[in-house]
Amino acid sequence: MVNKPSEQSIDHPLTIALSKGRILDNTLPLLAHAGLLPVEDVNTTRKLMVDGPVVDGTPVRFLIIRAADVCTYVEQGAADIGIVGRDILLEHRPHVYEPLDLKIGVCRLCVCGPKALVEKGNPREGSRIRVATKYDHLAEEHFLKHGVQAEIIHLYGSMELAPLVGMADRIVDVVETGNTLRANGLVEETTLYDISSRLIANPASYATKKSLIQTMIEK
Ligand code: AMP
Repeated sequence: MVNKPSEQSIDHPLTIALSKGRILDNTLPLLAHAGLLPVEDVNTTRKLMVDGPVVDGTPVRFLIIRAADVCTYVEQGAADIGIVGRDILLEHRPHVYEPLDLKIGVCRLCVCGPKALVEKGNPREGSRIRVATKYDHLAEEHFLKHGVQAEIIHLYGSMELAPLVGMADRIVDVVETGNTLRANGLVEETTLYDISSRLIANPASYATKKSLIQTMIEK
């Protein structure tokens, strides 16, 4: 229900942190369905904070930020709720509630490598490999479990390039269609986790704005 804000609620908007990029493309139809679209085109505006509608007297506003930062804004209470991939939640383990699997941004977190290397089999126990990733903890945990010493090379994106230039033996990244891997001569070796985007909530916000958040979830 879209209402005029009361004076009190103007001071207490509901702030929703949205992940930029591929997840945002999948999030906008969900927001449209729930009658919660931002008033501006978030793909073209340079604004980082964009107004939304007024829901049950509370104005909604959106923060358009990097996926890893969604966890930080929600954890710090600067955003009440956020939408972020499970890959980011597994890597950063923020102290947030995770009330809903939105079933968008479906992909998988995989170990991948050059076809010729992967065909030789998984790295042997006791071997050393270089792994390019932005999922440092998850990658380290995986290789440790298999007795492989992984030198983690942290990258912020385009991990697929690292093996091509001889900087890494494997990458750990999310894969959806597999097109980027194929275009760069890489193949999947092991799937670590199935991934989809989740609604997350700051625990204090969830307690104080539970009915509003529930209303949105039910939409
Ligand atoms: P694809 O070629 O469809 O397998 O997509 C792979 C590229 O898109 C990689 O660079 C990934 O980091 C990125 N990617 C794939 N799926 C997602 C997702 N759900 N969220 C964020 N990035 C993704």
